[in-house]
Amino acid sequence: MFVMKKIRDANARSAKPPSAPAQASAGTGKKSRDPHRIVIVGGGAGGLELATQLGNTFEDSPHAQIILADRLPTHLWKPLLHEVAAGSMDANANQLEYVAQARWHHFEFQQGELIGLDRARKTITLGEVHDEEGVEIFPQREIGYDTLILAIGSVTNFFGTPGANQHALAVDTVSDAEHFRRRLVAACIRTQNRLDETASTERPQVDIVIIGGGATGVELSAELRNTTQVLGAYGLHHLDPRRDIHITIIEAGPRILGPLPEHIAQESARMLEGLGIDVLTGEKVTEVQDHAVLTASGKRISADLTVWAAGIQVPDVLAKLGLPVNKMGQVIVTQTLQTEIDPAIFAFGDCASCPWPESGKSVPPRAQAAHQQAIHLHRELQRYLEGKPLRPFRYRDRGSLISLGRFNTVGNLMGKLVGGSLLIEGKLARLLYFSLYRQHLVALHGFVRMMLDTLAQWLRRKTVPRVKLH
Ligand SMILES: Cc1cc2nc3c(=O)[nH]c(=O)nc-3n(C[C@H](O)[C@H](O)[C@H](O)COP(=O)(O)OP(=O)(O)OC[C@H]3O[C@@H](n4cnc5c(N)ncnc54)[C@H](O)[C@@H]3O)c2cc1C
Repeated sequence: MFVMKKIRDANARSAKPPSAPAQASAGTGKKSRDPHRIVIVGGGAGGLELATQLGNTFEDSPHAQIILADRLPTHLWKPLLHEVAAGSMDANANQLEYVAQARWHHFEFQQGELIGLDRARKTITLGEVHDEEGVEIFPQREIGYDTLILAIGSVTNFFGTPGANQHALAVDTVSDAEHFRRRLVAACIRTQNRLDETASTERPQVDIVIIGGGATGVELSAELRNTTQVLGAYGLHHLDPRRDIHITIIEAGPRILGPLPEHIAQESARMLEGLGIDVLTGEKVTEVQDHAVLTASGKRISADLTVWAAGIQVPDVLAKLGLPVNKMGQVIVTQTLQTEIDPAIFAFGDCASCPWPESGKSVPPRAQAAHQQAIHLHRELQRYLEGKPLRPFRYRDRGSLISLGRFNTVGNLMGKLVGGSLLIEGKLARLLYFSLYRQHLVALHGFVRMMLDTLAQWLRRKTVPRVKLH
């Protein structure tokens, strides 16, 4: 009901032109009687934090109105998806309903996928939303904006590899991750049944192939080893996880974790070897088949389940909006996170290419970058509405941490405090790994609720199975 009312409101608003152009209404916020309408598209790691913070700031303000649009009705912090895929996290217990967050933090939520932008009329178009039976819930509609902020993240890039789209699973959304988990559990049960029946000396096994030895592939492989080890406790007694569940990572580059420092990659590779996970480097995947992965060197690797974790691209819609994009399709923005051709349009997070002058590259597509940009925009948009000049965003690389499930965490910390870069692992690294998610929760709910949520999760872990089986 809440959503329906909001949609009627938005439709009514979109019938009239948005308030004065950004530069004119920003400045005083008083030249137009309508509040300055800030529309954020994409409620992910960055967008939801920004909508929440702006909603809190402009609660009851006549000067600004905050609208968040997302194609989905619920949010789960994306770096947790590999835990959902491996079954060590129950997505239902950790997802956040956008409408509830909107109500608590004084912004509006509109469900729908961004499909169009009309810069002249300052409107975006959201596509129809259907239920599971394909029946329309929300119609296609236009929403007017004074300031538009794009934060629609990224999706898996199969690089046109034959068969990848059909046979490899991506882990971009909660439903992708749950689909993978269901297939994993089914494959384990089937193999256990075959083990019980077979008289042959050749033991059947579950072959899992992960394409891509970046952070996602490495973390997923360790998490899978972690959860498959406890399957025996839930009835799959005849399955020997180490022997019967075979995990292989295939990486095209000379080593795993290419963008991270060499010592982290070496340490991670050593730990993966200890977990019985095969790592093939320098192997370019040329085709994905129903039950096998083929490589350029002529290898054929059996696969009951293939996961593609080898690269990202931005959603196709960005290239159709008439905004400048780079080779990856990311919207090119200046250091103020504005597009050069239209200062009323901002973009940040994975979908944007923002300069990082200190490194000569652009800001990397990471949750920590989206988090920092959300904090920056929250501050700067208040100045923008007061007509003050925007200050540039400066990305601070705090280092990288790789979680190897409950087995270990390894990474480096960056910054002046640690004298440049410091290699860490073990409990301290694990604590810091989780702190990024805790920061996200603080941005969404405040410190007290984050602490309560942490306690609730800890208690829940004592009362539910360690692996989600159904
Ligand atoms: C398995 C995994 C593990 C990761 N681990 C880490 C990690 O440990 N540390 C780290 O820093 N980063 C990690 N990342 C990367 C991190 O998740 C992303 O960099 C981060 O989520 C980007 O934030 P964002 O706000 O730009 O986009 P997202 O968080 O992806 O959010 C995008 C939002 O836009 C919505 N959306 C998409 N298209 C549309 C559309 N057309 N219309 C409307 N809404 C749309 C989506 O539903 C989503 O809610 C990981 C990623 C994955 C997949």
